[in-house]
Amino acid sequence: MPKAELHVHLEGSLRAATLCELDPSLDPADAAARYAACRDFAGFIDAFKWAVSYLRSPVDYALAARALFAELAAQNVQYAEVTLSAGVVLWKQLDFARVYNAVSAEAARAPFPVYFVLDSIRHFGAEQAWQVARLAAERVGDRVVAFGIGGDEARGPAQRFAEVFRFCREQGLRLVPHAGENTDAAAVWAALEIGADRIGHGIRAAEDARLLAALAERGIPLEVCISSNVITGAVPSLADHPVRRIYDAGVPVILNTDDPAMFNTTLVEEYLLAARTFGFTADELQQLAADSLERWAIRR
Ligand SMILES: [Zn+2]
Repeated sequence: MPKAELHVHLEGSLRAATLCELDPSLDPADAAARYAACRDFAGFIDAFKWAVSYLRSPVDYALAARALFAELAAQNVQYAEVTLSAGVVLWKQLDFARVYNAVSAEAARAPFPVYFVLDSIRHFGAEQAWQVARLAAERVGDRVVAFGIGGDEARGPAQRFAEVFRFCREQGLRLVPHAGENTDAAAVWAALEIGADRIGHGIRAAEDARLLAALAERGIPLEVCISSNVITGAVPSLADHPVRRIYDAGVPVILNTDDPAMFNTTLVEEYLLAARTFGFTADELQQLAADSLERWAIRR
């Protein structure tokens, strides 16, 4: 099925083989073991930080982007919005312009349209978010289509970013915060209140019927990442994942991978999970895939 990948972190897409290309002294078995140890949110953060430590230059980022685009193309992905954690680039004190130019040049060569979401880290505060927002605003004509916030929801409530969101909206950016992944429905309400166009995860909405109705009525999609939620412990088990309830409540759903290397998944695998575990029919999946391209992709 032709489909779009709309929630994938470049840094979370570094397969063991790519890491070994970035650093030939790395043993592939060590890389595999690191990812296999990723069994809860803390383990995921450790694996993410470890993988990111191999992105040391713009050339490294370009290699990562190339590998991700090839992987997506092989799955009949025909459009992607890739999240680049600008917050991490700043934190690593790399030259953001050079890193961005490197990945943007790779995007221009990708076999399908690729755009970027620049992501700030909630618990790094509003000051960093402003920095990322300005970097995003400067690149609206250069493949940046949205601004997001990720990281620790409890330590960085959405309300703190209301002004930044307003600025981004005025600059022509769409707003795609992560929210309601491992906190509660209130975090999803907060994201809606500051103007989210789509919500990363948002699965806690399943705990609040009024919120599900609001998302359905406003047509705000949730970027659902099933494997991610199971591995980070956002849901107690695969069977407990609320994707079917969310969908049946009329809330638009987009299937995504989040961090495919760390969660050992692919976009095709996420569609298969939806079919096998949650009874999504072929017609329903066809519609989700079509919607990902035609309704929810920002630049289509
Ligand atoms: Zn994410």
